This record gives sequence, structure tokens and C-alpha cells, in this order.
Amino acid sequence: MINVASPQIGDDEFEAVKAVMQSGMLAQGKKVAELEEKFAEYCGAKHGIAVGNGTQALHLALLSMGIGKGDEVITTPFSFVASATSILFTGATPVFADIDPKTFNISPDSIAEKITPRTKAIMPVHIFGLSADMEKINKLGVQHGLKILEDSCQAHGAAMNGKTTGSMGDAASFSFYPTKNMTTGEGGIITTNDDEINDLAKKFRNHGMADRYVYEFLGYNFRMTDIAASIGVVQLAKLEEMTKARIANAAYLTEGLKAKGIVTPYVPDGYRHVFHQYTIRVQDRDNVIQKLRDNGVGSGVYYPKSLHKFDLLSDYGSKGLDNSDKAAEEVLSLPVHPGLTKEDLDTIINAF
Ligand SMILES: *Cc1c(COP(=O)(O)O)cnc(C)c1O
Repeated sequence: MINVASPQIGDDEFEAVKAVMQSGMLAQGKKVAELEEKFAEYCGAKHGIAVGNGTQALHLALLSMGIGKGDEVITTPFSFVASATSILFTGATPVFADIDPKTFNISPDSIAEKITPRTKAIMPVHIFGLSADMEKINKLGVQHGLKILEDSCQAHGAAMNGKTTGSMGDAASFSFYPTKNMTTGEGGIITTNDDEINDLAKKFRNHGMADRYVYEFLGYNFRMTDIAASIGVVQLAKLEEMTKARIANAAYLTEGLKAKGIVTPYVPDGYRHVFHQYTIRVQDRDNVIQKLRDNGVGSGVYYPKSLHKFDLLSDYGSKGLDNSDKAAEEVLSLPVHPGLTKEDLDTIINAF
């Protein structure tokens, strides 16, 4: 079976973990600091704040922007649940805007329609590894005095007009879950150019502590371990190579599938799509999934329902989200990860 995701772990990761284990210093320390510095530099951002996972990275970034009770944050319903629940954890209300059917990303026009006097921030999600239209979204932010948080959990190394995700909003949040473009097992990081967001996020991560036993406010333990960070440092060094493999695999799939009349992923001019997922649209999806499986090809449905269709989130808007609802019925993600061989790619194409 050709799996839809496969973390790329080699001897270097084992050696890095072993060195940390032998050092006796297992929790947040030098390796976390090294990952923060190198990852921020990779994104072209000033600061990195490593945390336990991508959900914590979203939650802490929102808190550090001053988002809380009574505030509204506009985001997309075509995403993983954490994009919305991280807003709820702060006490704020998620407000869903519709997506662009070609890119699957949040539509700036729909965002503009959802802005109210209570709107405090916009959280675009760079879905599947393609940057949202950050130029238009940042313009809305400036016009209406809103903070912008990039949910970059699927978009390590993606870019728009030469700017890398993680450096385009007030802050960005990344995930290092094993299926993501690089991994630390579980892990996440916030990047920002804003000194105040950096300062607050570092305190929120560690019990609101400004100094030893000085608790400025109610904080969390959202720290990353040096064990996890040591994997991240090795993965980051391989990220460009892994990303280029994803992009090459995607190009090969697109060439093969276009010839068969499949609706392949759209990459607008000036964008670097890093293909966290390679997502096509199909009719009769269940049948396609079964036929692929019969041919040894795994696939995944991201996402089977818009977020507002779940009971947990049904209070936060359901009107005018038709593009998201339609996408949820048609999307199918095919394997595109760096571990695929040319034979694997041919098997996927031939299955169609
Ligand atoms: C993976 C993901 C998250 C959550 O990251 P975790 O590390 O699993 O907590 C949030 N948003 C999006 C878009 C994701 O893909």
C-alpha cells in the first residue's frame, strides 16, 4: 500500500536524539533554542517560540496578540478543527468566511463581508501548503486595524511573491506533527517579527513567568522538549530537499493526471506551493477511494465536512459557505510525500 503520508526519519535523527538522551538535559534547553533560531531564520522572521504542538502554537499566538473574550476572529471552515478551537480556547468567537474554490484558501472578499466592530484578527490557513492571498488579507488588516495570524501548520517553506510563510502576518503558527512537511514527533512553533508577541508568547508558554517564581499572569506549560527539538534541527536541515521532492512529485502527478482529465491542484503565478497535500476534485469519491485502494494506493479526505457542520462549531456561522461545503464533498488527497518512488507515482497515475 502506498501511504498518503510517511515521515522521513533517518540515522541523523536517531543520533541527535541519542545525544540529547545522553546529555541528561531532556526538557527545554539548548536544542529548543537552536531550533527556534534556525526555523525563524528559515522563514525570514525575527523570533521563534517552540511549543508542544501546532494547536498550542495557534492558541498562544492568539493570546499574545491580546485576543480574548468578546473578540471575533475570522477564519476558514475548510481546515483542521484546531484552526477554530484555538480561537475558542482564548474565549473569542470564530467567524467563518468562505473559500476560493480554485485554491481552497480563505477568500479575501468573503473576509471583508464578515468584518464587524468586534473583529480583532484574521486567521488565514495556508491550506495544503499553498499560501493564502496574504497581500489582500494584510491590506484588510491595515484598513480595519486587525491582527493577522497565519495558520501555517501545513505550509513550511511556502511563499508568495518571494515572501515566505511565517513572515507575512503579525505572527504565524506551524505544526511538526509526523504527517506535516517536517516533524518533531509532536511539536509546534510560533514565528513573529513583533518583540511584544515574542515576549508574551515565551511567558505564556512557561506559567506566565517573567523571572524565577515571578508569575506575571496565568500561563501554561506548553514547552517543547530538547528531545523533540533535536529531531527538528535535523529535519529542518533536510526541509528544502524534502520540499523539492514534494514539488517534483506533484508536477509528475499533475502531468499524468491532466492527461486523464482529472482536476489537478491550482498554483497561482508567483506562489510556491509546498504540497503538504496533493488534492484533486472527484465526483463519486467513495468509489474512487475504493478503486485506488484496490490498486494499492492510499488516499485521504481533507476535509470531509466544513467546520461549521460539526456540532461543536455549528454556532459560528453557516451561511454563504457554499464553496467550502462543495469542496468538502469533492476533495481527495493523493500521496505526494518525499518517500515516493517513480514506480509509486506511476502506480497512482495508472490507477486512474
Ligand atoms: C496540523 C494542523 C493543526 C494542528 O497542529 P497539531 O500539531 O496537530 O496540534 C492546526 N491547523 C492546521 C491547518 C493543521 O493542519
